[in-house]
Amino acid sequence: MASDKTHPPTYDQIHPPQSNPNIPTIYSNVEQFNPTPATTTVIVTNTAVGPDPTTVTCPSCRATVVTRLEYETTTKTHVCAALLCLFICWPCVCIPYCSTSCRDANHYCPNCGSFIGTYRK
Ligand SMILES: [Zn+2]
Repeated sequence: MASDKTHPPTYDQIHPPQSNPNIPTIYSNVEQFNPTPATTTVIVTNTAVGPDPTTVTCPSCRATVVTRLEYETTTKTHVCAALLCLFICWPCVCIPYCSTSCRDANHYCPNCGSFIGTYRK
């Protein structure tokens, strides 16, 4: 019984190697090694944080933490309160101070207490 064994196509026909372009020589000078720490500009307030506690890597203690929120009463809070007082009704004046929508959310690290970022509405 002659079974037709069809061999898989061999890859002998490799494309001819192209002429190598000028590969830049890799400088292996150890003396040229420069750590250059000048690029480590730490801008803590650029941390992307939201209105809710956010899981971030603390830039101070390098720990992955869930930020602790502290809401800061800002000028916008007073403006919201004033507008509510003038145009709606005065009992609503406490709403901006109670809700978080008119206040900045400051994120702090619960581990070391360092300031991480501010979320502004
Ligand atoms: Zn920390």
